[in-house]
Amino acid sequence: MTQHKRTFSLELFPPQTPEGAEKLRAARARMAALKPRFFSVTFGAGGSTRDRTLETVLDIQGEGHQAAPHLSCIGSTRESIRSILEQYRANGIRHLVALRGDLPSGMARPGTFRYANELVEFIRAETGDWFHIEVAAYPEYHPQAKSPRDDLVNFKRKLDAGANSAITQYFYNADAYFAFVDAVRRQGIDIPIVPGIMPISNYSQLRRFSEMCGAEIPRWMAKRMQAYGDDAAAVREFGADAVAQLCRRLIEGGAPELHFYSLNLAKPTISVLERLG
Ligand SMILES: Cc1cc2nc3c(=O)[nH]c(=O)nc-3n(C[C@H](O)[C@H](O)[C@H](O)COP(=O)(O)OP(=O)(O)OC[C@H]3O[C@@H](n4cnc5c(N)ncnc54)[C@H](O)[C@@H]3O)c2cc1C
Repeated sequence: MTQHKRTFSLELFPPQTPEGAEKLRAARARMAALKPRFFSVTFGAGGSTRDRTLETVLDIQGEGHQAAPHLSCIGSTRESIRSILEQYRANGIRHLVALRGDLPSGMARPGTFRYANELVEFIRAETGDWFHIEVAAYPEYHPQAKSPRDDLVNFKRKLDAGANSAITQYFYNADAYFAFVDAVRRQGIDIPIVPGIMPISNYSQLRRFSEMCGAEIPRWMAKRMQAYGDDAAAVREFGADAVAQLCRRLIEGGAPELHFYSLNLAKPTISVLERLG
């Protein structure tokens, strides 16, 4: 990566307990040694989870790193988003990831904003150019999209509303990313589209996530990981090789940088970055 002068960023989720926060601090110190450009921090639907996003972001800033909080429409009102934006501004945060979010089971109302483009529009109207706004992109298309074409139109709405760049859902098929970027460029959109990379540490967990978010695990990779069965070390080794190979293809094909879904674990991401030199 240094050879290619590429940078990368890492996603974290806010820990739920003081022990979790302690563990995350230790993991973050290991990840920070690799000099990511920023850490992003996910955002949940409930009030206490949201407070923890702010706490985690302030922790990261306090350690001298750049932080980019996520923000979502689910359960949000104009007032609640306004107040969060004010807190971020007061703390010198200038980078956001704006999302729709998913309605948790048992939660009846999505909130004031229905789609991410409405949230981006609101953030711009409230705060002008203060924030660099990232949005989500889906090389394998969003599971609820009516068609690839429709998803692309909806993606463009977010950019027209003022988003600066995008981070993709994870995928293991580099061609899906390149085809998506080509389709976006044909719409005259030239913002950076950063591939989201999911390092592999546990096959059954990965399969569960992938079913939920519509990311495909290629058959050859699934077969290999199934065959390793309970041999967790073999899955990790195979996963690190396969993901590093994917990253190499993406970098060689022009990906502007990489964003790793760390799941708060240092080792799986570090194993991939080590393979990239
Ligand atoms: C990088 C990244 C980070 C994420 N972080 C979080 C997080 O912190 N918290 C969290 O809860 N979730 C997070 N997610 C998950 C995300 O919230 C879900 O994938 C969600 O289902 C869609 O969010 P979105 O912002 O892409 O939605 P949108 O862009 O609003 O799209 C959602 C669906 O609606 C359609 N659509 C969009 N706009 C319109 C419109 N105006 N009219 C009609 N249809 C429309 C789209 O085609 C798509 O099918 C993240 C995802 C990614 C890729």
